[in-house]
Amino acid sequence: MRFDTRLVHVGQEQQDGTGDVVPPLHLASTYDRDAQDPPRWFYARGENPTREGLERCLAALEDVRFASVFSSGQAAGATALAVLARRRVIVSDDVYGGTHSLMGTLAAQGVEVRYVDLADPAVVARVFDDRAEGALVWVETPTNPLLKIVDLAEVSRRAHAAGAVVLVDNTLAGPVLQQPLRHGADVTLYSTTKSVAGHLDVLGGALVHDREDLHEAFTAHRTAVGNVPGPFDCFLVHRGLKTLALRTRCQVATTGLLADALRESPAVAEVRYPGLPEHPGHAVAARQMAGFGSLISFRYRGDVDALLRRLRLFANAVSLGGVRSLAGCPATTTHRPVPQETRTALGITDDLVRVSVGIEDPQDLLDDLDRALHGT
Ligand code: PLP
Repeated sequence: MRFDTRLVHVGQEQQDGTGDVVPPLHLASTYDRDAQDPPRWFYARGENPTREGLERCLAALEDVRFASVFSSGQAAGATALAVLARRRVIVSDDVYGGTHSLMGTLAAQGVEVRYVDLADPAVVARVFDDRAEGALVWVETPTNPLLKIVDLAEVSRRAHAAGAVVLVDNTLAGPVLQQPLRHGADVTLYSTTKSVAGHLDVLGGALVHDREDLHEAFTAHRTAVGNVPGPFDCFLVHRGLKTLALRTRCQVATTGLLADALRESPAVAEVRYPGLPEHPGHAVAARQMAGFGSLISFRYRGDVDALLRRLRLFANAVSLGGVRSLAGCPATTTHRPVPQETRTALGITDDLVRVSVGIEDPQDLLDDLDRALHGT
């Protein structure tokens, strides 16, 4: 089965002979052991058929054996850190603000967290030294919110040579545009809240990989702490997933148009989008991604709050990857947990606006943005 067919079919197999083309939602929290032969289902914190259907589909999308889903992207991240963060974590410097908060929980456990610019080849060439043995390398690409590009094959090669494990938070690109495991990473993390579910109405997370030892460790941790998603949430994520390829193609096409329009606007000082030829990561993005994504960051020369209020189709809201277009100021929202001096040093300043492009008519979005940028 090719990718788009897997999106629709895997994990949706018929089980009960009714001919349902959509499997039933399994709501039971416990299972009658005597009704099973052989016994397989025990308690829903550990096993649930609706959840496992979604997991099969997510694993199939990256052509691997394992996926574990969680109650949110943060829950997936917490389990990944509990299993993989030993003495040291090396993290992309420009990551989702909540990832900074998650890393903050490691200090109490004596784990050293080092933020580095993994989008800079010179940094990548020197960061995996003797001390990287056993480290967890946490990569985001494109990064959030600056949309820097990390060369996944190069980071994975150097990290593995030093004895480190590589996890890629692939939430921004999503599995249609980028499959980190194909470039050598060990684990892909998703906030399925974003493009995977795609409709801005459910939270979820996932860890995808091909290692049996990790599968046992991730699911054992999840069962112990109980950060599982409920069956209805899994159903919603799986339903959204079926249209991911269609939505992604539409969003990427519109995002390219908006990036060009922003670049032409005198109200905009800088546009960051990996699809623009002048973006420093453009060549790497063209090599490792099947499209440049649906997020753009730009620096506005005017009053950012007023701009966000003037936008009508773009909701002034955090999150990304959904059917509805969103816009926001990362410095005052998603990246508030990042210390102010770090934000300033990275360039996450108050004039930076991030837009997430939805599936609306491209011309309506262009008109809305144009009107709001120029103050009407
Ligand atoms: N990773 C990235 C890149 C994100 O943007 C987010 C949320 O915005 C998360 C992880 C956390 O996901 P969730 O909100 O589902 O916990």
